[in-house]
Amino acid sequence: MVVVYYMRFKGRIVVITGGTRGIGRAITEGFLREGATPVVLYASAENEAKKLKEKGAYIIKCDVGNREEVRKAKEIVDKEFGKVDIIVNNAGIMVLMPFEEFDEQKYERMLRINLNGTIYVTYEFLPLLKRVKDGVIVNIASNAGIGTAAEGTTFYAISKAGIIILTRRLAFELGKYGIRVNAVAPGWIETDMTLGGKDQEEAERLREIFRNKTVLRTTGKPEDIANVVLFLASEEARYITGQVIVADGGRIDNLTHSV
Ligand code: NAP
Repeated sequence: MVVVYYMRFKGRIVVITGGTRGIGRAITEGFLREGATPVVLYASAENEAKKLKEKGAYIIKCDVGNREEVRKAKEIVDKEFGKVDIIVNNAGIMVLMPFEEFDEQKYERMLRINLNGTIYVTYEFLPLLKRVKDGVIVNIASNAGIGTAAEGTTFYAISKAGIIILTRRLAFELGKYGIRVNAVAPGWIETDMTLGGKDQEEAERLREIFRNKTVLRTTGKPEDIANVVLFLASEEARYITGQVIVADGGRIDNLTHSV
């Protein structure tokens, strides 16, 4: 297959949280290929961050769940670039925890990174986004956030449902500045989040389970989500705001409701 890349984002400054690994990494590389300058906010992946810097990304170590660190990152970006064109709120963690094993600390940490992090980054960087006439925000939610069930994901789903409602409300509030706000809700994507620390056999067992949950009988790759993010961030999506695009291979349990 021949893929043609356009320079859709030449001169654009794109803040990508968690842009060092998995889905965020594919998003960063997609923007790099299309002429943007990604500003990658990352938590700990020093080596990955260094490699992205060599490719032309601007990297800032910043825990998105720490408002002061986010504010400092905003100041650095303001001094360096003076504007932001696109924000991709991708950083996230998944703590699997059945409801009956509720652990407040783990829950609060997940909520702080996934949901508060999205709020902090959006709030702090908003003044820079308002300096351009066609700012864009793309939030990474999850199909869990629209109710797709999986063992132990109740609290994770809550954090992602919060991101979905935030997306819709922000689209409403920020439309007057020409800012579009959309979300992508991925299904099961092969990254450290889903396969990290698993041996070959266990990884294949999980792939098989999740393949069988989709009508397309396949699992997702980070690029499958990055492609949707780049589309939503592009001029081609200029008439789309307040939407959630589910990219999950077509979950059988969501597509078999009888009417
Ligand atoms: P991943 O491979 O585990 O990567 C997570 C990324 O988030 C890393 O770059 C990590 O930075 C960053 N991060 C974590 N905590 C952070 C913090 N406090 N501050 C800044 N950055 C932080 O995960 P992934 O699968 O790519 O997931 C990316 C997003 O997609 C998440 O929001 C996740 O919930 C969502 N999602 C994933 C799936 C899936 O099946 N994989 C499905 C639905 C939704 P470091 O590299 O520095 O640690």
